[in-house]
Amino acid sequence: MTERKPRVRFAPSPTGMLHVGNARTALYNWLFAKHNGGSAILRIEDTDVERSEVRYEGLLIEDLHWLGLTWEEGPQMGGSHGPYRQSERLPIYAEHTERLLAEGKAYRCFCTPEQLEGERAAAVAAHQPQIYSGRCRAVSMEDSRKRAGAGELYAVRLRIPEHPIRFKDLVRGEVEFPAEAVSDPVLVRSSGMPVYNYVVAVDDALMEITHVIRGDDHVSNTPKQVAIYEAFGWQVPEFAHLSTILGSDRERLSKRHGATSIASFREMGYLPEALMNYLALLGWGAEGGTRETFTPEELVREFKLERVTASPAVFDTGKLDWLNRHYLKLRPIAEVAQLAWPYFERAGYVGSREKVTAEIAEWFERLVAVFLPGVDHLDQLPEKAAFVFALDSAKSRADAENAAILASDMGQRVIGAFTARAIAEPGPITAERFKALMNEVKAETGAKGKELFHPVRIVLTGAHSGPEFDKIIPLFEDGSALRLGVKSVAERAAAFF
Ligand code: GLU
Repeated sequence: MTERKPRVRFAPSPTGMLHVGNARTALYNWLFAKHNGGSAILRIEDTDVERSEVRYEGLLIEDLHWLGLTWEEGPQMGGSHGPYRQSERLPIYAEHTERLLAEGKAYRCFCTPEQLEGERAAAVAAHQPQIYSGRCRAVSMEDSRKRAGAGELYAVRLRIPEHPIRFKDLVRGEVEFPAEAVSDPVLVRSSGMPVYNYVVAVDDALMEITHVIRGDDHVSNTPKQVAIYEAFGWQVPEFAHLSTILGSDRERLSKRHGATSIASFREMGYLPEALMNYLALLGWGAEGGTRETFTPEELVREFKLERVTASPAVFDTGKLDWLNRHYLKLRPIAEVAQLAWPYFERAGYVGSREKVTAEIAEWFERLVAVFLPGVDHLDQLPEKAAFVFALDSAKSRADAENAAILASDMGQRVIGAFTARAIAEPGPITAERFKALMNEVKAETGAKGKELFHPVRIVLTGAHSGPEFDKIIPLFEDGSALRLGVKSVAERAAAFF
């Protein structure tokens, strides 16, 4: 047999936002395809009409795109194995059902819900597994056709073989389920709607998927899908079931643990490359190393399914933050500033970015560079930089720690000496001029170190700690800043005088 080029698929149901778990599944599929020169296919599993919503399809695609995951085939770009929405493939499933019925691989089941319920209750009472008795297996083909023709309701069931069902899982090794664990599964409900396990197997086969990479919540579905492959005589793909992602309390990751949707991480100002790197590490590690930072290109080069672990991965926000800080440092500051702007706009500190001058944009870049080392993600920037845009001196005075510093004898003297000088300055106060002023204050009051700097910091920033004066003074005195309503050193001093 010639080696087939790998074809993988990511098959989300459009019933909600893309979250950490399925984004990792999407990523591993994408990395595997890219690493092996294969194709990645996007398939929308929207047969659950009650829960599927068209808008979620758009949102899923948007989030995948933001993460940098692109597809060779899918609902938007089409391809040779379409359509790529299951709701558009119903005639294909129907045609395949006819084939299975004609070949006796599947049969019509006329059991009523009451009969099935009775069987289940009896099995429970006898402590037996709740599996279908196979009553309708015995209905002859002719009878079956007649009853269906007469309008009797029926489901279609697969005739499960007598032998155990085995499949190869690249993460877990050989997996075997006894035939009884499966019983004869329903392929098509009496409503005419085909079930998930059936359509997935048909689609994977017709789309020539070679490797099914998905969450381990699908392990128990796999024997049913394998049995469907076998019934059709199709080659069974290889499987890789990815471990569960847990929260820090080792419970399955859920909304309870905080942000889990990709959109919420994007909104918080995480970079896509940081998230991609972090998701890759949730269950995978590169060969022979403890290295943890990988650009998308490096991930493509290094990614191998053999390095995917079966043990659950624990989602660690601290590590994601660390990676995000790493990638924020690597990005050119102009790009970071552009990404940061909307957060400042939302905080009401700046107007629309389209309307500002190049000088203001350049000043803003310097501002972002000053505060960036203190944040994990961009939405934290406006709060850190709040004192640049809006300093409430009454509030700073009211803060208990500040009040103690300000009330001290030396505090009073330093503030008096500093504010008088700052207000009297004829021109803008450069970082150098500021240093000279501070030396004068030091000489006049005899204060040094904290005694000298803390009160002045409270005057200028509202807090006794923060970024170095050398960095923030130039932000206060720039003509562009003044146009944004940022107060100069003298104005800050005057407000405190
Ligand atoms: N649509 C399924 C889900 O979102 C995925 C099915 C599969 O990957 O086989 O869980």
